[in-house]
Amino acid sequence: MIRTRFAPSPTGFLHIGGARTALFSWAFARHHGGKFILRVEDTDVARSTPEAVQAIIDGMNWLGLAHDEGPFYQMQRMDRYKLVIQEMLATGTAYRCYTTQEELDSMREEQRAKGLKPRYDGTWRPEPGKTLPTPPAGALPVIRFKNPTEGVVTWDDLVKGRIEIANAELDDLVIARADFTPTYNFCVVVDDWEMGITHVIRGDDHVNNTPRQINILKALGAQVPLYAHLSMILGDDGQKLSKRHGAVSVMQYDDEGYLPEAVLNYLARLGWSHGDDEVFSMPQFCEWFDLDHITPSAAQFNTEKLNWLNAHYLKQADNTRLVTLVQPRLEARGVTISTTPSLKAIIGLYKERVSNLNELADAAEVFYIDLHPNAETLAQHLTPEAQPALADFAAGVRDVAWETSAIAALIKSCISKHGLKMPKLAMPLRVLLTGQAQTPSVDAVIALFPRELVLKRLSFALTN
Ligand code: GLU
Repeated sequence: MIRTRFAPSPTGFLHIGGARTALFSWAFARHHGGKFILRVEDTDVARSTPEAVQAIIDGMNWLGLAHDEGPFYQMQRMDRYKLVIQEMLATGTAYRCYTTQEELDSMREEQRAKGLKPRYDGTWRPEPGKTLPTPPAGALPVIRFKNPTEGVVTWDDLVKGRIEIANAELDDLVIARADFTPTYNFCVVVDDWEMGITHVIRGDDHVNNTPRQINILKALGAQVPLYAHLSMILGDDGQKLSKRHGAVSVMQYDDEGYLPEAVLNYLARLGWSHGDDEVFSMPQFCEWFDLDHITPSAAQFNTEKLNWLNAHYLKQADNTRLVTLVQPRLEARGVTISTTPSLKAIIGLYKERVSNLNELADAAEVFYIDLHPNAETLAQHLTPEAQPALADFAAGVRDVAWETSAIAALIKSCISKHGLKMPKLAMPLRVLLTGQAQTPSVDAVIALFPRELVLKRLSFALTN
């Protein structure tokens, strides 16, 4: 049984990198009919907040990355970690170290001065036949893991290939502080072990932790999971993705009018490929997803491609669903939506032409507000030669059949009567009715309005 986990530290939002890690872990579990576990790594109490936990859960919900187990909170598992540390002290895989911070600092300074890599010198590390110093009275020790000194730690990273680190490079990691609170790497190890994680899929900023975690897992007699370290995501500009790139939280993509399926499809292709396939659903992704086709090189963010995917998914989306996504955006702007014109019909016509939900809301808004077309745009399109044709059109509106083809016929008869080309009438109609010079086919746009509203908006041109 495949078991993966997403283990965010709740110190901020669910950002794009975290969302991709979550997506890959989720898809891998889904592909194999396994379990996906959500674990909140909240041991950094100074930086972890309940708001951040909520933001992460909101982000996962928005994307639809449902977990099968959890969320487990590390702060609620402290007793368990402490018990494991006690057992390690008892079996000798961990030991008490009384070296003070000052001693460590001067040790490091000396080592640096000699051009050596700074490391703990092993004063308190028990060895066969070695006599340990007497613990200073009243001092509280930290607990260190007794890392092997010989040999190498090796793992076949499922993304990066074989990685080997000499044990001589690793010093004895502090696994509990002087107040006996367990440290970060230790909690991860106990959790991966006890949660039966088979595949650790995470960002490659954790590669350096892996050899230490593997050594502790081995000391605990635990099965070592397989590791897949995902390369980082670079911004559009090739720099490390950061707040500078605007979208720090996946929920910001929601604010900016992206559909979750577009973001998911986009993220799926950030570092993973299936031939030339660019557009696919999540069920399709879960069917295809494997770790063999993850690239070890950094992936670069491409906003244009995300926008293109979003436009694609908007076209595909069900109109009733789009109403539920656009309506709150209009209401947030203070726009009151009446039953006519129908928001669903507006969306059906405009969704082909926009690349996000906010643009769809912009297009819909003009149907409901008290419209005052921009004077300059009006002056540009409301030419004297258009006036008589507009007047005829307005007269015809009163009793034309209220449907696109009849409205199209009325427009045609007005332009031919006055010897005009189509844009000469279509443009002022667009601007007067919607305030915009760019719209879908003008007859279809007009058919969305109630007849009375068309007359009202045209009367503006005829009386001015
Ligand atoms: N909590 C870590 C983070 O948010 C992830 C740890 C892990 O995946 O092992 O970066």
